[in-house]
Amino acid sequence: MSLRLLYGGTFDPIHLGHLAVARAALASSMAARLDFVPAADPPHRAPPGAGFDERAALVELALATEPPPTSGAWAVDRREGRRAGLSFTVDTLREWRAEHGEAAPLGFVLGADAFLGLPGWREWRALFDLAHLLVARRPGAALDALPPELDAECAGRWSETAQDLAAAAAGRVFIVELPPRPESATAVRDALAERRDADGLPAAVAARITALGLYRDRPRA
Ligand code: ATP
Repeated sequence: MSLRLLYGGTFDPIHLGHLAVARAALASSMAARLDFVPAADPPHRAPPGAGFDERAALVELALATEPPPTSGAWAVDRREGRRAGLSFTVDTLREWRAEHGEAAPLGFVLGADAFLGLPGWREWRALFDLAHLLVARRPGAALDALPPELDAECAGRWSETAQDLAAAAAGRVFIVELPPRPESATAVRDALAERRDADGLPAAVAARITALGLYRDRPRA
């Protein structure tokens, strides 16, 4: 069975750094497909500056106008928008497993900053039973000194080849190497709220945000 990837995030809004991560994850893991999974109500952070439907539509627009690598396809998975309550990754991965079976190889993609915070996630150790973790390097989030409990959980799981990922359903940890990507959604929202041009957006996404007047006001904290 071929490897598939889920890439979770708030995508508030999607930017070119996200697309670079997705491309690098697909290419380096030789996965057949990557689904972006926008969070409806992300735990541990302020409410998003745009609604779920707006953010998911911007991801769809980005994917329609930016090409995936030749090796794999990409799409949007709206399941977290259909679920009530906070969007916990462990629930999403359990749903996916129930649909695709215990043997299907699955990778969950996240940036290095998110990975360093993993011990704060709900049932974080269960994530390793449900998927491989594909950790994308990100400026400012060094991977050489992990929090001790994360370091201990990752011991024996580090994998350097795509073959390792295809050979098991879950449980490996793989670093996605990519040239440093400076984009952040916070910087995009700050620029738009200050009526400046935002760097790092796909052209079609920037145009749609302007047309809809999104992110012109800072969200209530
Ligand atoms: P915010 O500034 O609102 O926190 P963000 O730019 O970090 O947003 P998210 O939607 O929170 O974007 O990110 C989704 C996932 O993508 C996270 O795992 C995050 O670590 C990763 N990610 C986002 N931007 C980058 C980047 N420039 N390089 C590497 N990983 C990234």
